[in-house]
Amino acid sequence: MQAVLSSLAALPPAFLIVAAGVIGLMVGSFLNVVIHRLPKMMEYDEANYIADVRGEPLPHPDRYNLMVPRSACPHCGHLIAPWENIPVISYLFLRGKCKSCKAPIGIRYPLVELGTAVLSALAMWHFGPTAQALAAIVMIWALVALFMIDADTQLLPDQITLPLLWLGLLLNLQGLFVPLTDAVIGAAAGYLLLWSVYWLYKLVRGREGMGHGDFKLMGALGAWFGWQALPALILMSSVVGAVLGGAMLVLRRKSTDTTFPFGPYIAGAGLIILFFGADVLPLGLVVGH
Ligand SMILES: [Zn+2]
Repeated sequence: MQAVLSSLAALPPAFLIVAAGVIGLMVGSFLNVVIHRLPKMMEYDEANYIADVRGEPLPHPDRYNLMVPRSACPHCGHLIAPWENIPVISYLFLRGKCKSCKAPIGIRYPLVELGTAVLSALAMWHFGPTAQALAAIVMIWALVALFMIDADTQLLPDQITLPLLWLGLLLNLQGLFVPLTDAVIGAAAGYLLLWSVYWLYKLVRGREGMGHGDFKLMGALGAWFGWQALPALILMSSVVGAVLGGAMLVLRRKSTDTTFPFGPYIAGAGLIILFFGADVLPLGLVVGH
């Protein structure tokens, strides 16, 4: 690891930032697959499991994972060739349309690729050629996937939140971001804080106000940034969530029974803390010191 870092440090900083951006573009393209398929994989697995227990035929007998089947146009089934799958460039070249049937391709695909690339490059610029930069880039990839999956499906898959939590604890064994004690307390306190809010809400209102994935994601961020970051994380995600959620209520005139995904705001708050640190909010002013 030390050898890798010192050879990275020998390269020009501008090269490293561009390289992080190019790798971010390619990973962003893969994240589009994860965002689209992981919730479906979970749904199919569950439906197959239930059918299997009941001795019924499997509703989804075909293999379906991140690699199989190959990507195809959802409108005409045209298989997407490698040259049609170059991040951002193919989208521009195809003018946002399927090559075969001309059905529009969502702008979100190049946006996820660009967003992942810009954030990865920013992390390399901000942290320099350090282990922190490499860790931060991995966290960014996980948060981009969680942000989009929760916005789409209101799910935060354990397959991403739990490894993120363990990785945060492991990295802080050597105190990469915070001392290990702060990380362990942060993981437990982050989980328990939202767990308590969940149960309070359920007791008072008689229904669920947030998902279990939200506790796990807050636990993961506590493991990375330590318990000291939790007030800022919770404040930022709930203020942004309340403002955007309220705006959506007004715009869509939906009843207050509509649940809003909270995960995207937690993921967004995590990104802000990653770049600006837990001191980003003058919390002393908030609590009246
Ligand atoms: Zn098509």
